[in-house]
Amino acid sequence: MKTQRWILNGQVQGVGFRPYIYRLATTFQLSGWIKNQLGEVEIVVQGCPHSLAAFAHALLPKAPPLAKPKIVSYQTIEQPRLNGFQILSSDSSTEAMIHVPPDYAPCQDCLKELYDPADRRYRYPFINCTQCGPRFTIIKCLPYDRPNTSLSGFPLCPACQAEYTDPQNRRFHAEPVACPVCGPGLTFQQGDIWINNTEAALSACIQALQAGDIVAIKGIGGYHLMCDACHDEAVKHLRQLKPRPHKPLALLFPDDQSEDLSGLKPFVTLEKYHIDWLRSAMRPIVMVNQVQNTPLSGEIAPGLAEVGMMLPCSPLHILLMDAFGGPLVATSANVSGEPILTSSTEVKKRLGHITQQFLHHNRPIVRPVDDPVFRFIQGMPRPLRLGRGCSPTELTLPFELSQPTLAVGGQQKNTVALAWKNRVVISAHIGDLGSPRSQAVFEQVIRDLQQSYAVQAERIVCDAHPYYRSSRWAKLSGLPVHQVYHHHAHAAALVGEFYSSFQTPWLVFTWDGVGLGEDGTLWGGEAFYGYPGQWQRVGTLRSFAPPGGDKAARELWRSALAICWETGYHWDEGEKISDSSLLYQVWQKQLNCPRTSAVGRLFDAAAALTGLLKNASYEGQGPMMLEAASQEVGEVIPLPIDKMQGIREINWAPLIHKLLNAHDSVSSRAASFQASLADSLRTLACLIREEKGVTQIGLSGGVFQNRVLCERVFSLLRAENFNVFLGKQLPANDAALSFGQIIEMMAVDFKNSY
Ligand SMILES: [Zn+2]
Ligand SMILES: [Zn+2]
Repeated sequence: MKTQRWILNGQVQGVGFRPYIYRLATTFQLSGWIKNQLGEVEIVVQGCPHSLAAFAHALLPKAPPLAKPKIVSYQTIEQPRLNGFQILSSDSSTEAMIHVPPDYAPCQDCLKELYDPADRRYRYPFINCTQCGPRFTIIKCLPYDRPNTSLSGFPLCPACQAEYTDPQNRRFHAEPVACPVCGPGLTFQQGDIWINNTEAALSACIQALQAGDIVAIKGIGGYHLMCDACHDEAVKHLRQLKPRPHKPLALLFPDDQSEDLSGLKPFVTLEKYHIDWLRSAMRPIVMVNQVQNTPLSGEIAPGLAEVGMMLPCSPLHILLMDAFGGPLVATSANVSGEPILTSSTEVKKRLGHITQQFLHHNRPIVRPVDDPVFRFIQGMPRPLRLGRGCSPTELTLPFELSQPTLAVGGQQKNTVALAWKNRVVISAHIGDLGSPRSQAVFEQVIRDLQQSYAVQAERIVCDAHPYYRSSRWAKLSGLPVHQVYHHHAHAAALVGEFYSSFQTPWLVFTWDGVGLGEDGTLWGGEAFYGYPGQWQRVGTLRSFAPPGGDKAARELWRSALAICWETGYHWDEGEKISDSSLLYQVWQKQLNCPRTSAVGRLFDAAAALTGLLKNASYEGQGPMMLEAASQEVGEVIPLPIDKMQGIREINWAPLIHKLLNAHDSVSSRAASFQASLADSLRTLACLIREEKGVTQIGLSGGVFQNRVLCERVFSLLRAENFNVFLGKQLPANDAALSFGQIIEMMAVDFKNSY
């Protein structure tokens, strides 16, 4: 008889890990116990050496799919004889909610019950178990126990109670467990008419959608506005009312259960890797190509080849899509750029002008979370937005921080990150911090992260831009504040995902929109050599000066005029813009014409010069349309790279002639523009290698959400024997700034420790 003690951590709470260990131990006739403590689990098992070996062999490989256990320690101990195996209750006063599990789509076992007329949860929209269902969006505070979730108002019926307390049952301690008798239900509201029966509410909702109406439907992380995606008038109506003239709308498709999703063939082109990712427990939005001449409304993604699509992420959405049968528009119910709305009163108050029809449910959403968005680049799913199913995102730091640190990110696509010791947790997408609601959610997320993990930040890192809302908030917090330059944070975020030491220097290209740089100009086309905390700017893009400053973000013609004026080109279309001669005078005096080296702005200029788009209605529209327009392998126009004050500068001037050449197709011009930029990146990388001997290259910043550009850069750099890295866990865009700020701070701690 021997006794062994295991300590495990990782994702082991709220995922059915304890009952799994109970079953495993009893299978091998082992005695002992399992206990949660301080975010770890302690397992003590006693039995014959043969059984102990079998237990050890099965422990990790047979763990439940959602559990991600890691072994911390394992030892043989002296222990008097034990009787039976027990799940001991945790010491809740010390237990922190160390690994908050994300919200997951229904598992196969629950799906079987959902479709089984004999099951007591047949067609129940809130069916879940230890392997699936909501977590992150229902947990109010630690420890993760039913009274601390938003299901606290739903006392369990005897049947659910029996499942919940039976260690052999797959719903043992499934905290959100529910059934039609004791759990949440649906309500359909049409103006003043309320339908409170769940089945009746669902069919009323489906009828409304079939009639071409817009319905606000409450899901996992908030409400969606939904309508028939093939109904042109419905989609147009939604766009007008929101208002959202062009920004692409996400689609929700039914899962026909066929291996290749054959029912979707008339709409979208899917590869196997798309299908696998779409069906993962996260159920993300994935960017896929539209089929030409699809039945989809042309209003879904005007001017773009791709659409964002997802499969149902909850039993409610499964029932809805089974009945509706075709694609629905499913766009976050929010006011432009703000976080998704979660409460019925807020939705009615703020979006009542769009629809008077709502499908509510009465399971409160504790925190808003948008759908995550991914795009396949270079064969890998790359996140464009973090959210439901992947939040909170946790990464491990290679070095420990000296103090608990909060990073508050940027201004747009904001996320925040909390880090302590060698752990960092990055929030879901919050949004653009311009509005009071965004600001309120930003502050809520900061409180919430610290409370959930029982960690109090002792210092704050923010962007160096003094006017970002996040930077202003940091200054008023009363804690010590450290500033990090925008593109240093981008570079550090990339390196933070991949490095394991400070041994090998990096060359990171941060091609992005504008951000404040060290020299006071607006950066966004930089190449940095070195390590986090000690970046050397070795490359940049020739700068230009769009008149009107921030206005250039939406008025792309301003960047187009600036590059033409800078080089003496004449742009006919530009001259037609009112006040262009007045602007020219302003530009000559350089009044409110801040210089920028942002590649994002150069893309804007290219979109305008090729005639694709002069004014954008959403961020990134110009670059996205330019990418979609390039349907061929572009002709490379070599761009000169000169060394100016020790920094190599890519000169875009030779591109203007091509961009303005109306004899060439828009596709050819767009493709050539991107191919030439990719080529210039390669040339710059090789020049810097000659000087510094660098071998690993990072790509970071919003421009690298562009697949055409990225894949070209990958193949060019690999042909030159570079190792190339692009984020897999975090978006290339500003959502990664909070994590990058933490990495910069960690590097400072590391330096100070010597
Ligand atoms: Zn399940
Ligand atoms: Zn029940």
